[in-house]
Amino acid sequence: MVSRVIPVDDFDLVIFGGTGDLARRKILPGLFRRFCSGQMPKDARIIGAARSDMDDAGFRQMVRDAIAEFGGKNATECDELDAFLAALHYVTIDARGEGGWSELAGKMRSGVVRAFYFSVGPGLFGDLAQRLKTHNLADDDSRIVVEKPFGRDLASAKALNKDLATYFDESQIYRIDHYLGKETVQNLMAVRFGNVLFEPLWNSQYVDHIQITVAETVGVGGRGGYYDKSGAMRDMVQNHLMQLLCLIAMEPPSKFDPDAVRDEKLKVIRALDPVDSHHIVRGQYAADGDKNSYRDDVENPKSFVESFIAMKVHLSNWRWAGTPFYLRTGKCMKARSSEITVVFKDAPHSIFGADEGRHRNVLSIQLQPNEGMTLDVTIKEPGPGGMRLVDVPLDMTFADALGPEAEDVPDAYERLIMDVIRGNQTLFMRGDEVEAAWAWTDPLIEGWQARNDVPKPYEQGSNGPEDALMLMHRDGRRWREIKG
Ligand code: NAP
Repeated sequence: MVSRVIPVDDFDLVIFGGTGDLARRKILPGLFRRFCSGQMPKDARIIGAARSDMDDAGFRQMVRDAIAEFGGKNATECDELDAFLAALHYVTIDARGEGGWSELAGKMRSGVVRAFYFSVGPGLFGDLAQRLKTHNLADDDSRIVVEKPFGRDLASAKALNKDLATYFDESQIYRIDHYLGKETVQNLMAVRFGNVLFEPLWNSQYVDHIQITVAETVGVGGRGGYYDKSGAMRDMVQNHLMQLLCLIAMEPPSKFDPDAVRDEKLKVIRALDPVDSHHIVRGQYAADGDKNSYRDDVENPKSFVESFIAMKVHLSNWRWAGTPFYLRTGKCMKARSSEITVVFKDAPHSIFGADEGRHRNVLSIQLQPNEGMTLDVTIKEPGPGGMRLVDVPLDMTFADALGPEAEDVPDAYERLIMDVIRGNQTLFMRGDEVEAAWAWTDPLIEGWQARNDVPKPYEQGSNGPEDALMLMHRDGRRWREIKG
């Protein structure tokens, strides 16, 4: 099967923070891949902007090095690097100053899509939005892309939304959650809404529970200062896990259109119940030999901020009343794995007798390290030995079914940037969604702060604190094994 690459319209993309970690690791190598695939028009321009004093040649060299380091096999296999680098430019700009803007204007063309990627801290979003307008760089068709974190609570998210809304219409604002750009996340929607098979079973009558795990093996690394003001709830649950929950739980939208999809996601967030404190387990990774503890890493010996969180949440609506959703995410865990698991209920009666034990259909959607989907079905164990049952996975991984071309799927960032150029907001969060997510999150955080809740220590390389296992064991359920 030959994959279809549909070129996007010609564009100028300005990356504020073009010298930063995210630009070097993800955005620029991703754009190079789109260039090599033929999706990025050859005339398109990419303009890096930051405070560092650099010229076009210096920026091109920086990007050449970044692609060599982070570009993967594309970096060695694609021979169009020089042509790609020729599309790059650089302007020295301080988001809070007035210098450099006319030079930027001089490097941009008219008559093409203009997109501005704010790959800088959220404290600069308002300054950039304002200066883009006052220096006449943005018109009614221009788009801005903003990175996470989008606020640290409801009040700050509202303030950010208000700042951006002063200068840009909601239809021009693209709030990135790169989890939504993953191939499998979109495939989840295709599987749910493109087949008759799943939707009739997709409710509390047939689904026992749903698990969402996002496990990382790394600690907080050099981000200790930021992380200790945030924690797993703000850094992961409020955005990534919440978005996954929305896609798995939402009602079918009337069409695959940005507002239709986002309206349904918003309803899910608004249907989330407050969470009982007994249904939340917070943890911090402990020291392990010469490996730092969380508190060492963030240089705060009294930190009560969590590097792990597990919770049981409920949705108050017709579809999901009574079906628990178990969420967990943490650092320094056993393996790097992001997975959504839908565990269906037992068959109402086993004609094979009690000896055959429990067999359940389980749909598992893996997001990383490998993307794919499997459905466990129960069959007869082949061979002699009577009627014995066994669960086998039905592999719905697209690469196997669709051939090697399907393995070469774009990374989430590349896909999302191309969506920005196309003007498609379906996979981006709307302002009201982000605010609703904070409105649910804030009281939970305030609750544990008021209780002086102390996170439970957990071993590095483990599944998190013992209490997190108990959260499910108490309900007669168990977490899926975290496998890389
Ligand atoms: P970073 O490595 O610290 O880079 C920040 C960039 O912003 C640099 O290019 C810096 O260059 C520029 N900058 C800082 N102050 C500026 C100013 N006043 N005016 C103009 N440019 C300025 O940060 P990052 O990791 O790339 O993260 C960027 C954003 O993405 C943050 O909001 C972060 O939370 C988010 N994010 C990052 C990742 C990731 O993997 N790195 C993942 C998700 C979200 P100069 O110092 O030369 O100005």
